[in-house]
Amino acid sequence: MTTVTTTAVERAYEPTIGLEIHVQLRTRTKMFCGCALSFGDEPNTHTCQICLGHPGTLPVPNAEAIHFALMIGLALECELSPRSIFHRKNYFYPDLPKGYQISQFDIPLWGHGRLGEVRVHRVHLEEDAAKLVHAGSSGRIHGAEASVVDFNRGGTPLVEIVTEPDLTSPAQAGEWLRLLRATLGRLGVSDVNMDEGSLRCDANVSIRPVGTADLGTKTELKNMNSFRFLERGVAAEIARQEEIVRGGGQVVQETLHYDPTSGTLTPLRSKEESHDYRYFPEPDLVPLAPTEAMMARAREALPELPAARAERFERELALAPETAKLLAFRSELGDFFEAGLAGAAPSDEGGRGDAGAANGSGAATDPRTLASWITVELVSRLGDANPADSPVEPAALAELVRMVSAREVSGSAAKEVLDAMAAEGGQPSSIVAERGLGLAAADELGAIVDRAIDENPDAVEKIRSGKNKAMGAIVGSVMRETKGRADGGEVGRMVRERLGLG
Ligand code: ADP
Ligand code: ZN
Ligand code: MG
Repeated sequence: MTTVTTTAVERAYEPTIGLEIHVQLRTRTKMFCGCALSFGDEPNTHTCQICLGHPGTLPVPNAEAIHFALMIGLALECELSPRSIFHRKNYFYPDLPKGYQISQFDIPLWGHGRLGEVRVHRVHLEEDAAKLVHAGSSGRIHGAEASVVDFNRGGTPLVEIVTEPDLTSPAQAGEWLRLLRATLGRLGVSDVNMDEGSLRCDANVSIRPVGTADLGTKTELKNMNSFRFLERGVAAEIARQEEIVRGGGQVVQETLHYDPTSGTLTPLRSKEESHDYRYFPEPDLVPLAPTEAMMARAREALPELPAARAERFERELALAPETAKLLAFRSELGDFFEAGLAGAAPSDEGGRGDAGAANGSGAATDPRTLASWITVELVSRLGDANPADSPVEPAALAELVRMVSAREVSGSAAKEVLDAMAAEGGQPSSIVAERGLGLAAADELGAIVDRAIDENPDAVEKIRSGKNKAMGAIVGSVMRETKGRADGGEVGRMVRERLGLG
């Protein structure tokens, strides 16, 4: 039974990927002033002298942003710098009215940490730039197409997370970013919305001959603003680098833009060096030295994180690793799952659903079956929507799953019940009763099975000669007749019994 895979042997180069992630914090106000955070508001309505960079104004650090950044570093198991330093990162751009961004440089708030299988290099606090809006031909100035600036975003608190180059495939990079997004979402510190830019990811990519120690020259792909684009862009860049190296060339260190529609990579600029920014310590801010009270408050605010939750789902509820991750990495699905289990369990059981517990109406909902109905059937009906916003109640879905297991309703009829629940809510037992979707009663089913046997002599012949596949024809006919209100396994047993094959 051993099979030999040759791909690993033939593969001449292995990729290395490191990610740099910017997270917009969901604080009430900006990083260094009292302006409210906003998204999609009328442009330039949330500005003041500080975030517009007027001379003589002074920045005041946002305590809530620091609290959130402390929570993030704790969640990523990082080492705290007792006194981290804010720096000015100097450059000119129209979206940066001060001519510098306040960021952290050689002493970031947090040093080495880890999330899952990836080491975190550093985590630091900074402020976001404003937003350049390309007005196109409608905004012509002296005949030229114009760009305008919306300063609402300028000064929004950002946390930057830099990983070590520990990722080795596009799919692994995508999955890790999903874990990070779920973790940040669970912390409640950010909207983590890649479409809206509250979570942004740059990917650093290099390749090296398999088995060699030194990493190859890396390129940087800017703003991979969806998981799919990240995976596709990194794969395209790996292929581009392999082609260069196979042709005897050398990869040049540069920053690239990946266009997801055409799949092309175009150079943006040659890589800038940190000395280009003339970093120097921000003279208007003292070092950031978190007190023990601040640390305690951040520790207390940490919820159970997705990686731990997935592990618990596997350990306590015997879910398959993939299913456990699907539920834990989309926290809203995990919440729905746990609410369903809790709703299905007897009331004295409290909080967590217990796999072994029996409820009032027979067997309890099996966590594995409920997990599968959520990750397959519910998700296919909801797409990316939050199940908390859908009319399907967690306890109602758990009850439906229990009814299927208890053979009170067939699997296919249950899908119809779920369609109805997804459209207008309601309890499965009443929907089953209203629509006559309960399993056909034994005598009714017996008559239908008899008829199916009479009407399918060919199939009966084959079943008698041991060709069990032919059972499908008879079961199918019974299903059509009962409009799915029969249990396939039960029908099979009845047919065999009637043919004396018991
Ligand atoms: P730079 O000085 O160019 O900013 P850093 O050492 O700060 O480079 O790393 C930036 C990011 O690039 C990190 O996420 C890191 O993991 C990643 N990285 C560094 N070297 C490589 C490499 N050779 N291949 C792929 N990623 C790399
Ligand atoms: Zn302001
Ligand atoms: Mg860097």
